[in-house]
Amino acid sequence: KIFSGGFSKTRDNLAVIDELLLYWNLSDTDRVLDELEEALLVSDFGPKITIKIVESLRDDIYAGKLKSGTEIKASFDALKKSVLDILTKKGAKTELKLGFRKPAVIMIVGVNGGGKTTSLGKLAHRLKSGGATILLAAGDTFRAAASDQLEIWAERTGCEIVSAEKEKAKASTVLSQAVKKGKEQGFDIVLCDTSGRLHTNYSLMEELIACKKAIAKVVNGAPNEILLVLDGTTGLNMLPQAREFNEVVGITGFILTKLDGSARGGCVVSVVDELGIPVKFVGVGEGVEDLQPFEAEAFVNAIFS
Ligand code: GDP
Repeated sequence: KIFSGGFSKTRDNLAVIDELLLYWNLSDTDRVLDELEEALLVSDFGPKITIKIVESLRDDIYAGKLKSGTEIKASFDALKKSVLDILTKKGAKTELKLGFRKPAVIMIVGVNGGGKTTSLGKLAHRLKSGGATILLAAGDTFRAAASDQLEIWAERTGCEIVSAEKEKAKASTVLSQAVKKGKEQGFDIVLCDTSGRLHTNYSLMEELIACKKAIAKVVNGAPNEILLVLDGTTGLNMLPQAREFNEVVGITGFILTKLDGSARGGCVVSVVDELGIPVKFVGVGEGVEDLQPFEAEAFVNAIFS
């Protein structure tokens, strides 16, 4: 149900493969592999991983290691397992690293429209329900409506919020004030929203660095988490975005949003594979409860079911 909309095309392709495999003989190999390639590309696995998977199967078939439809099917199951391995490798922890320092600081970054503010609101609700005291920081000072939007989430979740005192305030100033307040008043966690002008915008990256530094000055260290929001509907654009944000600020986890729609999300497998950063949460709607911890197995099952 979670990823209900997402993978129907993939499933259609995989159903064709299943049928082909029932009566498979060697001459079907190219057709089966074409269908598989299509299925993986449709899910936005990305060309690199897709080719790696398809070619290794082709090698095994022509080398005589896979001799029947059943054996190839078993190999698909192994494939599922290898995708699962990618998503769970390097002991990737999906829980937030909140440590003992008070306040813990979580920065949420990402391009506009991806679901940053919404995810932050949902995360506030989740953490507050777990018993923590949460302070929201309206660090998207570039977009006037962003801080109004966060005010609404503050009300909805019953969390306090620190916003810019004057127009055109610097994001780093707002975040610094918020973290100071968090420290003085003993909040458990400060959740920092940030601006999301196009990720190619150099000054945005400068601003994020300034924000990180401003936070470090107050708490004597890096934020506990810097979560990059990836829009599940953007497919292959995810990878360059993730690379750039990671190079500039150092990402500790992803939030993959909009998996309730027609989002494919498969591309996140390439992102996790290349950067070795775990997905921590998935967004499955616009409501306050619609942020769930990432479960690799459920995600993979939804792709390959
Ligand atoms: P920001 O610019 O990155 O802060 O993005 P917003 O949080 O304003 O979200 C942009 C739009 O996407 C809003 O209309 C949100 O309600 C919507 N949105 C965010 N996350 C999800 C999600 O998981 N599922 C769906 N269906 N919509 C989402």
